[in-house]
Formats: sequence, structure tokens, C-alpha cells
Amino acid sequence: MTDCCPRCAHESVRTLYSSPVPGVWDVVQCARCLYTWRTSEPDRRTRRAAYPQAFRLTEEDLANAAEVPAVPPLRTDGPPAAVRGPELS
Ligand SMILES: [Zn+2]
Repeated sequence: MTDCCPRCAHESVRTLYSSPVPGVWDVVQCARCLYTWRTSEPDRRTRRAAYPQAFRLTEEDLANAAEVPAVPPLRTDGPPAAVRGPELS
């Protein structure tokens, strides 16, 4: 049973989905960092104690997380030729 988020140790996690065959797995999501995992994944993905140190987050890390890059405005000159493909006549 999952008691906290493997990535940030937050204790509020919720079950998003459960396996069609009851009791096989659940998909669980952290309410704070949104890390999502399936309970049938290995301990390094599902247990805080086994989660890789390099990928762990703290509350401070989350508070200081960089802004997600904005989507740039749409181009008005169309895609480059390499993307457009051969001209049809
Ligand atoms: Zn988390």
C-alpha cells in the first residue's frame, strides 16, 4: 500500500484508476507534485525509500521550481520547407 508520494513524500495521494480486474493495480497520483505511478511498478518508482535520490523533490524544491516554458505564438509565415514536404502541383 502506498503511504506517501515516492517523489516528494507528500502524504496526500489519490487513486485515479483501478485495474479492470479488481485488485491487480491502481494508478495513484500525488496531490502536490502530480507524480503518477501504477502500484505494480518496481519499488524504485513506487516507494519513497527506493526512489532515486537524484529525482527526489522537497517542498522547497517545488516552491522554487522554474516556470513551465510558455508556448510561443503561432507563426504567421507557415512551416519551414523541411516540415512542409514536397510541393504538389
Ligand atoms: Zn509528490
